[in-house]
Amino acid sequence: MTLTTESFDTLLHEVRQFIRDECMPFEQQIDRDDQIPEPLVQRMRALGLFGHSIPREYGGAGLSTEQLARVNIEVSQAATTFRARFGGNTGIASESLVVDGTPAQKQAWLPRLASGELTGCFALTEAQAGSDATALQTVAERDGDDYLLSGRKCFITNAPIAGLFTVFARTEPGTIGAKGISAFLVERGTPGLHTPPAYRKMGQHGSPVGEVVLARCRVPASAIVGHAPGQGFRTAMKALNKQRINLAALCVGPAIRLVDEMVGFASARQQFGQAISEFQLVQQMIAESNTEVHAARALVLETARMRDAGVDVTMEASMCKLFASEMCGRVADRAVQVFGGSGYIADNVAERFYRDVRLFRLYEGTSQIHLVNIARRTMARARAAEPALA
Ligand SMILES: Cc1cc2nc3c(=O)[nH]c(=O)nc-3n(C[C@H](O)[C@H](O)[C@H](O)COP(=O)(O)OP(=O)(O)OC[C@H]3O[C@@H](n4cnc5c(N)ncnc54)[C@H](O)[C@@H]3O)c2cc1C
Repeated sequence: MTLTTESFDTLLHEVRQFIRDECMPFEQQIDRDDQIPEPLVQRMRALGLFGHSIPREYGGAGLSTEQLARVNIEVSQAATTFRARFGGNTGIASESLVVDGTPAQKQAWLPRLASGELTGCFALTEAQAGSDATALQTVAERDGDDYLLSGRKCFITNAPIAGLFTVFARTEPGTIGAKGISAFLVERGTPGLHTPPAYRKMGQHGSPVGEVVLARCRVPASAIVGHAPGQGFRTAMKALNKQRINLAALCVGPAIRLVDEMVGFASARQQFGQAISEFQLVQQMIAESNTEVHAARALVLETARMRDAGVDVTMEASMCKLFASEMCGRVADRAVQVFGGSGYIADNVAERFYRDVRLFRLYEGTSQIHLVNIARRTMARARAAEPALA
């Protein structure tokens, strides 16, 4: 059951206040220190931000896809690192459990993810398995009632601080591609699981991303999501499909913020004896940005509503992620341009967002991978609609 419109409006208002009043003032400090102050994380927990997408019977808010998209558009108007702190728990790090977990697995983990007691992470990517995730080499070797996990995951958001890892590994030796992959729930502290320090990154400072090393890490067979060996890749794709709408919404928020920042700066900055906002070439950058924000927002919300209505939106979710992430990159680039030289200097809002949003075109499917998916599905639909030859 989802929230009533009235309760949702209250929740959205609370989130907006928190983001504007309590998070935005810390953006520069976090960008420099690469760390979110713990009292802010406590506030995120108290406000229930870790559990928005988790069903209400497990302690979450049970938001619909559309409601979650609207929250994401709000939270991402502050530096993207804030959302990255709790966003795994309301997306990719809990969704495998939500869609395919057994009742006992859901009971064991979802309340702790919803409260923010545990931070989750989704460990799929490996050095040789990025866009082609089915090339993963992490193996899970059967040993009595247990499995021994061995391998190395890279680029895993929140790995350095996570308490629960959804690890994808091959359980059927000799299989290739999507077959024979299983999703395991592994708790920090399990012997054989180790996380090296976080990488240094271009942006999204404060959001730790790192490796997960598995050295004959012993887990019971009951740790496989849904107790369904070999179904892990299907589970991953279900989680990623929803996540693409979430991520597209997260691209809209920064663009809204940057349009506001462009307008504010352009109105104040004087050149040639007048505000630069009077120049039509500057106005063009603002107008194009705002138009693209509007288009992306409409696309995301419409796709979210279709998903809530039970429509298969696999292709449309890909379109959302592609369009919104590319749009956000263009808006961030224009923002730097409107700010002029100051947009290139550290601590400028456009400079920071420019670095932060670059990631959106890379993870959860690069733009090229989404283009390939969209083309394939578009042509398949066209073929399906062709009349059969007699
Ligand atoms: C900060 C950060 C956080 C991340 N968080 C997570 C996480 O939490 N969990 C997780 O599992 N992963 C995570 N990732 C991994 C991310 O999803 C991958 O980096 C991404 O899928 C791309 O894989 P790759 O880096 O290996 O690039 P590659 O797949 O090697 O791609 C390199 C280039 O080749 C292009 N390319 C590849 N295949 C094709 C093709 N068929 N057609 C056309 N072009 C192609 C790509 O578009 C890209 O331009 C994260 C990455 C980063 C940087």
